[in-house]
Amino acid sequence: TAGHVVPGPAPVLAMHNIRHAYGHHLAVEDVGLEVCQGEVVCLLGPSGCGKTTLLRIVAGLEVLQQGRVDLNGQAIGRPDRSHVPPEKRNVGLAFQDSALFPHLSVLENVTFGLGSLPGRQRRRRAMELLDQLGMGRYAESYPHTLSGGQQQRVALARALAPAPQLMLLDEPFSSLDARLRDRIRDDTLHVLKKVGSGALLVTHDPEEAMFMADRIALMRDGHIVQMGTPRELYCAPVDPFVVTFFGEVNELEGVVGQGRVDTPVGEVMVPGLPEGARVRVMIRPEALRVVALDEPPADHHSHVIMAKLLGRTSLLHICAHAGGGRESHLHARVPGVFLPDEGQPVTIRLDPSQVFVFPADPGTAAG
Ligand code: ATP
Repeated sequence: TAGHVVPGPAPVLAMHNIRHAYGHHLAVEDVGLEVCQGEVVCLLGPSGCGKTTLLRIVAGLEVLQQGRVDLNGQAIGRPDRSHVPPEKRNVGLAFQDSALFPHLSVLENVTFGLGSLPGRQRRRRAMELLDQLGMGRYAESYPHTLSGGQQQRVALARALAPAPQLMLLDEPFSSLDARLRDRIRDDTLHVLKKVGSGALLVTHDPEEAMFMADRIALMRDGHIVQMGTPRELYCAPVDPFVVTFFGEVNELEGVVGQGRVDTPVGEVMVPGLPEGARVRVMIRPEALRVVALDEPPADHHSHVIMAKLLGRTSLLHICAHAGGGRESHLHARVPGVFLPDEGQPVTIRLDPSQVFVFPADPGTAAG
């Protein structure tokens, strides 16, 4: 089959060079991204970085100001008279505050968007979705008798039922308590993959993004900082912001010497950084492999200052001796079954794949 080109899945959504301002306030700038058929893309980032604005532009709730949006290869929102109204875009919307119709039952709410199907099929389709999201037995209930989380699940079922080419989900699990959230995420992902809809999902929760996403667009101040698979963002972050967004890290300063940086817990190779460069060394707490010692070694050693069992993991504060009388305090995250005593001597090994080194001052790093 040499020379045979297998086409990738077609993009259901392509955004190019999007810029959006509210008055003088620039909310989004220079954003481009694609969502392919059957692909879940998460917009991840801190509050106010522009995630919802992007979703609203795709939904047609904001008129595109600059750039281009193609839905299934067709321009839907150029900043001229070609603006396509939201209801004509064949996208499913599940927003944080998606209101149900109060005078319709749960089942009627979900069948509402299935107008094109014959009655019995509508009912079957709606029940299937409600069952999948654990709401089948509430089919005859009315929204005001449901909890916030249950209403959110009905809103999800309603949005997913027509199997739109593209689903837009804005914090769709935010009203669910932690335990239910895990299950509904799982169920929603299952439904999305089964239906084959592309999805653009907004969240500020890195773990949710990693669970749901085929690809993540991590945003900051209206820009996409890094776009890639969960593994790419977690294991090959492009800058310190990306590292810290996925959790607190230990930060040390260092100087490059012979292609390495010395830390109190071992050497880190830093190919590509110039000799003598000052660097920020970012060490994830789970990068530290802690081994308890029965006897403190004769020379200086590291020891546990504080140990807390948090369930699946334990959090340790460790005092590491760097030699020359220098000490560093580091946080380590280890399996919860491992809970050393406070004061216990330890040795530490470093998993270099969870250590990231960046120029201390990016402005002067070149050369
Ligand atoms: P959150 O996670 O808090 O919902 P977000 O990443 O979704 O945040 P947006 O809601 O897109 O962020 O907002 C981006 C920026 O635009 C913010 O600074 C916000 O204050 C501003 N903004 C959003 N909507 C409006 C509006 N209707 N009028 C004026 N400014 C707005």
